[in-house]
Amino acid sequence: MFRDSVSFAQAMGCFGCFGYSRRTRQSSKTHLSKNRGFSRDRLIDDVPYYDDLYSCDSDETSNAQEEEEEMEQQNRSKRSEEILKFKLNNGLICRQFPVKETNKLIRGEDENGNKMINEYVREYKIGSGSYGKVVLYRSSVDGKHYAIKAFHKSYLLRLRVAPSETAMSDVLREVMIMKMLEHPNIVNLLEVIDDPETDHFYMVLEYVDGKWAYDESGRPGAVGEETARKYLQDVVAGLMYLHAHNIIHGDIKPDNLLVSSNGTVKIGDFSVSQSFEDDNDELRRSPGTPVFTAPECCVGITYRGRAADTWAVGVTLYCMILGQYPFLGDSLQDTYDKIVHNPLVIPDGLNPLLRSLIEGLLCKDPEQRMTLKDVSEHPWVMREDRPVPEYLCWCKRNSAQGTEAESNGGVEISDSN
Ligand code: ADP
Ligand code: MG
Repeated sequence: MFRDSVSFAQAMGCFGCFGYSRRTRQSSKTHLSKNRGFSRDRLIDDVPYYDDLYSCDSDETSNAQEEEEEMEQQNRSKRSEEILKFKLNNGLICRQFPVKETNKLIRGEDENGNKMINEYVREYKIGSGSYGKVVLYRSSVDGKHYAIKAFHKSYLLRLRVAPSETAMSDVLREVMIMKMLEHPNIVNLLEVIDDPETDHFYMVLEYVDGKWAYDESGRPGAVGEETARKYLQDVVAGLMYLHAHNIIHGDIKPDNLLVSSNGTVKIGDFSVSQSFEDDNDELRRSPGTPVFTAPECCVGITYRGRAADTWAVGVTLYCMILGQYPFLGDSLQDTYDKIVHNPLVIPDGLNPLLRSLIEGLLCKDPEQRMTLKDVSEHPWVMREDRPVPEYLCWCKRNSAQGTEAESNGGVEISDSN
């Protein structure tokens, strides 16, 4: 039995190499890997993996190519940020209430000696973030629990993730993306605390307090068909919402899917997510988690973000049903080779509908891969012969009411995927 995603990752034999690491966004040998949640040693260990992976060209060619790709990637990141800033500055968000912005931080203690930040009383650490930690707090105002992702700005600014980018831009992009969204299957950001006088930066998130409902099979990560169906419906609903709002998550995996006490899955961790202006979701090289990486991201220079997210949903479903990863090698390169070349193995005896769904999601050709809309209408996924219900998001509600949002943000979720 696995009480939480950490045990799950450990049981998957992936604690060090996969579930908790991120690849560098670019193959730059001189830049620190955008490594997540483990020691510096491991962080340095990851760099050769990445170098191996992209060192097939001659040095000169690869250097020139790398520089060009680096520039291209930077332009895209900047563009992504500009789009987000424009939307936020113009109120083009899909939320009932904007995220609260607090620029005064008061650190103190309550009467029992518990540490406090503003009205939040510290309880205990619940997660290790890539660049910071996640801590459970209780608000002394409403008495509710919140998960607070805490960072040190000086550390973020020192940590280079690309030649002209630091980890700070990743965190700010994560915040900007979350400020735009509100959906029952997306972790909600409620407040950002950023006092220019201090080094601390906090994201106050809704606390998702449940656990993955592991089944009795003993297979790591397996949740059984019924629970897997419910989880998949939730992930697909949340991801269709994101994609319809031109956001690519980029790191879908069980670790980033939090389960509430009533069993609802909420997608979290937008730290490598990207935003797009139009329907062009072309990305270059995935910074996501290797074992969830789509084949086209392992070999190609560019790939389509939506289809890559959809592959990661397939890997997640495979894990939930079979309790193992579909493609896992002894090294990063070996894992990528397997993802690209090895046939998908699904044991005999699996429900044929479920088999067809897994095969459709883990189709190596992104053009032939099932879309999320296909998934939502798949007979294994549908509940009482009905597809995953469409959620009337805030910008769509507004556009239906003929408000100003109509011209700017109203989207048809079901049509965009
Ligand atoms: P990272 O970018 O480092 O992976 P995450 O946002 O995924 O950061 O947070 C790290 C871990 O903290 C998660 O895997 C989860 O266990 C825990 N966590 C994050 N946000 C919440 C939340 N809102 N409620 C409960 N636990 C959370
Ligand atoms: Mg995470």
